[in-house]
Amino acid sequence: VWMECLSFIKDNIKPQAYKTWFEPIKPIKLTGEALTVQVPSKFFYEWLEEHYIKLLRVALVRQLGKDAKLIYDVRMENTYSSNSPQTVKIPSSNRNPLKPQKVTVPLESKRELKNPFVIPGLQKVKIESQLNPNYNFVNFVEGDSNRLARSAGMAVANKPGGTSFNPLLIYGGVGLGKTHLAHAIGVEIKDKYPDKTVLYISSEKFTQQFIDSVKSNTRNDFIHFYQMIDVLIIDDVQFLSGKAGTQDVFFHIFNHLHQNGKQVILTSDKAPVDMQDIEQRLLSRFKWGLSAELQAPDYETRVSILQNKLYRDGVEMPEEIVEYIAKNIKSNVRELEGVIISMIAQASFNRKEFTIELAKQIVDKFVKNTKKELSIDYIQKVVSKYFDMDVATLQSKTRKRHIVQARQLAMYFAKRMTKSSLASIGSQIGKRDHATVLHACKTVDNLTETDKQFKKYVEDLTKKLTL
Ligand code: ADP
Ligand code: MG
Repeated sequence: VWMECLSFIKDNIKPQAYKTWFEPIKPIKLTGEALTVQVPSKFFYEWLEEHYIKLLRVALVRQLGKDAKLIYDVRMENTYSSNSPQTVKIPSSNRNPLKPQKVTVPLESKRELKNPFVIPGLQKVKIESQLNPNYNFVNFVEGDSNRLARSAGMAVANKPGGTSFNPLLIYGGVGLGKTHLAHAIGVEIKDKYPDKTVLYISSEKFTQQFIDSVKSNTRNDFIHFYQMIDVLIIDDVQFLSGKAGTQDVFFHIFNHLHQNGKQVILTSDKAPVDMQDIEQRLLSRFKWGLSAELQAPDYETRVSILQNKLYRDGVEMPEEIVEYIAKNIKSNVRELEGVIISMIAQASFNRKEFTIELAKQIVDKFVKNTKKELSIDYIQKVVSKYFDMDVATLQSKTRKRHIVQARQLAMYFAKRMTKSSLASIGSQIGKRDHATVLHACKTVDNLTETDKQFKKYVEDLTKKLTL
């Protein structure tokens, strides 16, 4: 039935659009007049719904009659549970089968295991890993920016709990692949060791479950549930900051797992030294294993990531356009993907080919939308120039007061205006450690309050840097 539908659709739209939007659809089952198809993402589903619903309906009605129903199985990106695919029903209206109907996709949370630890007889229940199979190692493009983290992840996947990388902490800025890599490790472990219980959970969700368990007097069940897991993956642990109760319970769970040779994988947007409001004893556990940084990808890696994404989406794009995008979108993999998604959407919508003009338009939008982050180099240049010294002087070991102040100001602005960690700021401004940078930031704060002349420096420099 689906093949017939496809050939009808193929005759009615452009080949590019067909390839992009219909080839990835997988028919799953046919029950009576209801055809279930699998689509790769929510975005994909929404796109079909918005642009091709009429065509789809005509195609289906031709095959299955006027009561034809199409059921989408959306394989969603972040939470995936293989036993309960999310389905979105699109009933065809009897009166007017061609009239598109607005259907909203149920929220992600619906498909997640709400309170897995209160399920009775849990010991016998299989725990859903909540892993996204698309976030695997094959799809995780290797580059200098992620080589260490990636190979540490591989090592852990080969011998979960059996390496010194326990916990493995993956840290780095937004959109650099922490969540993807964390899933990839889990997916690989599930593949190699199907009997191991793997669980992926976000810190927020973990926190919420803990709070619920306290409210419903099931705190012990909560703890027991987590202590049964062989491989625990907790995403974005920076969200635990300031949450003493959750940190405390996590500390106990962590100790239990670690002592029993179970693997813990954590991600965070900061290195452990830069994490704030996390209990010292927990921080020291984080440092037991390996902390591996994901850095912003270099040009070559960006090109490979784009090519990989295009290949997976079955889309061909001229090389010069790929290169243009890679040259101009630098900070973040999520944005690289965003540009590709927009390009495909735009080109398909307007039934146009990919052009460099289209790429420029879309890239411009992305660049404008992301507040430009200053580089530490640039900050050092502006500050040294303001104090009429060169960058080498600013970085030097001298204790001369005005030079020390300039250096502290550079550190202060680097902390305020970049996403770099204290440690990385320190290493770039004359090879200092994170404590020196922290001290500099505090000193600048204090001096700004007490010293008028100093306050003026800060104001002048703020203007120069943000102009
Ligand atoms: P983070 O959790 O660090 O914010 P994500 O893991 O969500 O970032 O990654 C953002 C997007 O970029 C995801 O779609 C992910 O698949 C993709 N991505 C990140 N790094 C890579 C990589 N090395 N190769 C391929 N895709 C990547
Ligand atoms: Mg993430």
